[in-house]
Amino acid sequence: MSGANGLSPVTVVGLGPMGQAMATALLRSGHPVTVWNRTAGRGADLIARGATLAPTPAAAVAASELTILSLTDYQAMYEILGPVTGSSRRSGALAGKVLVNLSSDTPAASREAAEWAAGHGAGFVTGGVMVPAPAVGGPGAYVFYSGSGTVFAAHEPTLRLIGEPRYLGEDPGLAQLFYQANLDVFLTALSSLLHATALITAAGVPAADFLPGALNLLTDIPAMIGDGRDLGRLLEDGEHPGDLSTAQMMGATADHIVRTSEKAGVDTRLPKAVKAHYDLAIAAGRGTENWTVLYEILKAAAA
Ligand code: NDP
Repeated sequence: MSGANGLSPVTVVGLGPMGQAMATALLRSGHPVTVWNRTAGRGADLIARGATLAPTPAAAVAASELTILSLTDYQAMYEILGPVTGSSRRSGALAGKVLVNLSSDTPAASREAAEWAAGHGAGFVTGGVMVPAPAVGGPGAYVFYSGSGTVFAAHEPTLRLIGEPRYLGEDPGLAQLFYQANLDVFLTALSSLLHATALITAAGVPAADFLPGALNLLTDIPAMIGDGRDLGRLLEDGEHPGDLSTAQMMGATADHIVRTSEKAGVDTRLPKAVKAHYDLAIAAGRGTENWTVLYEILKAAAA
């Protein structure tokens, strides 16, 4: 049933920091919101602000056409909704419903889940939220989506309240592919930032003397390696002209970082992994090419 303002009801399943932020954004916009969480009590603030607590997952799904899931992984969705699906594609609890799963998992898990949902008569869209919970619903928030374009389009105005929707296509795996690839960059950068800070503080230098410059370095990277489209073209064309930053030179630097870390007594696993990429390129006889030749090495390792 729609709210007094005509806005459609939405159910949010999973009330970790992210689910709570989504429910908050939806409530703020005037949607009637029903919530459910495995551990009781996590919805207390939302209920105080007008959300309805569903007593069971079945009641939660029954309350709205659209259910947004925000869980640790896709297995949690099966554990919550599996018992309520019933055996009929037409009359089970999910029949005619729409599930938008914004939990993190692999692209393969997203594709399997889309088939599972279709088998129970539900529309399914998968997504990945690209900002931390406090930024949900605010300026700059964006979310990757993929799966049924028709289902996505029908609910796009509601999903827009979480963040700018970036729909990638019908393949349900695409949103998680983009999410994981972006998080690959993000998590590695965060680990490198902390590793580098540990190197600095091991020498008795305050972290604050280092971090502002290191963060500027991150934002300077596009100016150094070129616009993403140009870089993408060079990588896809397999062009790695070695006139500036060769794999050999970068590999020597990677080795210096490993040795500096060893000397400082700081963990060496991350710099050793980076050095290993350059070692492979050099061993393949490609040391005199540009550092971007690592792309060929990494691709080949995955093949
Ligand atoms: P969590 O990843 O810790 O998710 C917590 C939610 O999942 C809780 O509601 C928890 O229930 C539920 N849950 C986990 N396992 C099960 C299970 N087996 N059965 C039932 N419920 C289960 O916290 P977040 O809210 O931070 O993240 C949610 C999703 O959003 C994750 O996939 C995360 O990767 C993604 N995300 C999070 C961001 C963030 O900044 N927090 C940023 C971008 C994406 P219970 O309370 O009972 O433990």
